[in-house]
Amino acid sequence: MIRGIYSHCIQDEIWLIREAEWARSLQNIREAQFAIGNGYLGTRGTLEGIPYGAIPGTYLAGVYDKIGSQVDELVNLPNPINFKFTVDGQKLDVVAMDVIQHRRILNMKKGALVRHNIYRDVKKRLYDYQSLRFVSMSDKNIGVMQIAITALDEDCIVDVNTGIDTSVGNTSVLTEGKKRHFRVRELGQFRNAGYLIIETLEKKHLISYWSGFYYEINSKKIFAKDNIFRLKFKKGQTVKFTKIFSIKHCPYKDSHTRLKQHNFKIFNKAFRSNIDTLLNQHTKAWDKLWRRVDVKIGGTANLQQNLRFNIYHMMICCHHDEGASSIGARSLSGEGYRGHIFWDAEIFLMPFYLFNCHDTAKNMLLYRYRCLDKAKELAKKEGYKGAKFAWESASTGDEETPAWARDIDGTITKVHTHQFEHHITADIAYAVYKYYVATEDHKFMEKFGYEMIFESARFWASRVEFNNRRNKYEINRIIGPDEFHIDVNNNAFTNMMAKWNLITAYKLFCKIKKRKSFYKKMKTKLNLKETEVKEWRKIANNIEINITKDKIIEQFDGYFKLHKVSITTTDENGIPLIPIKLKAKDLGKTQLIKQPDVLMLLCLLDDVFSPETKLANYNFYIPKTMHKSSLSPSMSALIACEVGDLNRAYNLFNVSLRTDISNLYRNTPEGIHAASLGGTWQVVVFGFAGAKIKKEILHISPRMPLGWTNMSFSLLWKKNLVKLDLTNDTVKVKIISKQKKTLDMGVFDRVMPLKPNKNYIFRREVGKYKKAGYY
Ligand code: BGC
Repeated sequence: MIRGIYSHCIQDEIWLIREAEWARSLQNIREAQFAIGNGYLGTRGTLEGIPYGAIPGTYLAGVYDKIGSQVDELVNLPNPINFKFTVDGQKLDVVAMDVIQHRRILNMKKGALVRHNIYRDVKKRLYDYQSLRFVSMSDKNIGVMQIAITALDEDCIVDVNTGIDTSVGNTSVLTEGKKRHFRVRELGQFRNAGYLIIETLEKKHLISYWSGFYYEINSKKIFAKDNIFRLKFKKGQTVKFTKIFSIKHCPYKDSHTRLKQHNFKIFNKAFRSNIDTLLNQHTKAWDKLWRRVDVKIGGTANLQQNLRFNIYHMMICCHHDEGASSIGARSLSGEGYRGHIFWDAEIFLMPFYLFNCHDTAKNMLLYRYRCLDKAKELAKKEGYKGAKFAWESASTGDEETPAWARDIDGTITKVHTHQFEHHITADIAYAVYKYYVATEDHKFMEKFGYEMIFESARFWASRVEFNNRRNKYEINRIIGPDEFHIDVNNNAFTNMMAKWNLITAYKLFCKIKKRKSFYKKMKTKLNLKETEVKEWRKIANNIEINITKDKIIEQFDGYFKLHKVSITTTDENGIPLIPIKLKAKDLGKTQLIKQPDVLMLLCLLDDVFSPETKLANYNFYIPKTMHKSSLSPSMSALIACEVGDLNRAYNLFNVSLRTDISNLYRNTPEGIHAASLGGTWQVVVFGFAGAKIKKEILHISPRMPLGWTNMSFSLLWKKNLVKLDLTNDTVKVKIISKQKKTLDMGVFDRVMPLKPNKNYIFRREVGKYKKAGYY
């Protein structure tokens, strides 16, 4: 065995995720876990030799396409991570040769994937195979890979086969089969590089690739004339192959020649540089990001690694492209949910970006703004006013929910979410408002935000129905976040979020009234009348939800009368199992729920409900929650923190934390569950660190589980960076700010004005710390 050529990339254990042996059954799981990317470009961690069973995936944010009447899907693009070696006709890979050693390491700090294999061929000769791969964080079009091979026992002849693999396609979904969404427009060679231009079939996205590679023997650099060639290897001599590629697309119609030339410039700059420089620039960009987003937890090494794994995956899908794209349910690491964008983006992921990377948070909202006209069309088509956002959205904002999907028991079932799951419209308005409060980005509100909130309020005003008998407004024929119950009336979550949307729109309208010229402009642009806005308030004040005298909120009309089923068994991770006799199609007849619905509402409208209401509903709904969506454990953990049940909070947090690192939902091969990444972060920061926004003031009151000695992280808040260092009894704060203004902050429930750039330490008052009940 020879020394690790890339050992400089894998030094700090706490930043590494390791694969210690080759297991074919784990191949597709690892591909998602070891995905690398920079938000613009994402590639799965497929082995370079594309072994049998591999699912390579190369995706660009926002590049979707479809065939005929099917729905848009994130296009699986030609694969540049394709490098095959054959010795005497035997492929140098994990399937064709004996694997003496197989190690892969994802370095999350550097955003790099390192590999070291030892293979043995049929003649018992050994080969050392090492590789390094990264997608540049400093230059979003560039990808770099290097493979170093040493024939350990004898001289040999190696056939090399690389190039950009255009034989890829989207993995088959249900009855639709495997699809290729592009055609090759141009392919050729220029100087020492190859180029490829493809065009997607329906939307005609043009994507340009440039790729160049060379190999080095005894430090002599040789540019190969072709992608397929033969090389002599001397025993013990290491041959290094370096490939640099650039991928660029143009969301706006551009000439194919201009795109090709532009991309060539980007490529050529990188190709003329060297791998060390490129790696250096890339790791510097990662360092900067980690300094901003890292959350350090004292006392728990394994947990720290897993938490970073979650944050790493949020960083490799975060992007800023003026709203051309947002983040899909499986990020850029797989094709689950066809890359579609759900409420997962605004409600689960957005808080992380909002407190860490304003650009990404803004971008996600700009994406929704770009879809606003489509949302208005959708509302109109269904007989409503204002804007109704699609439940599943892709490049245009059209409704992209497929007609059929697999149910939790594996049966194929008709999908109804696009017909009835309307809360997403209020969720988006909610995210816009949260963005505004956290960033004070008035320009954003003026150009986009008010309009989004007003148009969604308009939708709700037309969506409600007045019930004369009850003398209340109702929202009927709905699916709430719990998707086991379809087509119900007065789902509490939807009703309350709609009410919130209407009242917030009303208040914002009153606020802008003071700014005469802007107010006039807005009224004209949206054709808004004061009578209409007053009607929003009237409706909001009369929207119904049913609460018992024990403070239990009925999830929807008639829920309490449904069949009560006890959950008696759980799997090894504590996730409840559906009673054997209960069929998936009958779940709607029971009180079992897929994921938090009322509890979700209590998390989002935290300041609207009393601690007693939270506790009563927690005790009522938690035993009914099946956690059949990866969105469920984190929100359940969050509310568990809120009511002081830290033991359960910690267990549920662990499920959320390990969703993909342990493939808990058994579908990690389809990509990383983006919502659970964001949900996990929320449990840590909002739950255990007790960060909370109350009346526009940031509060901190830690309630960490046992075993966590301290936590440190920082949050962007109202143009300041709030640095926090916490134990359960002390809070150290430093506000980094260019402004001289003090910032009101709540620590252990006491609000104080804090001066910027000064170190503060606060201690919990003795007697107020309820030790009992903590983990
Ligand atoms: C969940 C939805 C979620 C979607 C995408 C579904 O299983 O029920 O709430 O938006 O997955 O993650």
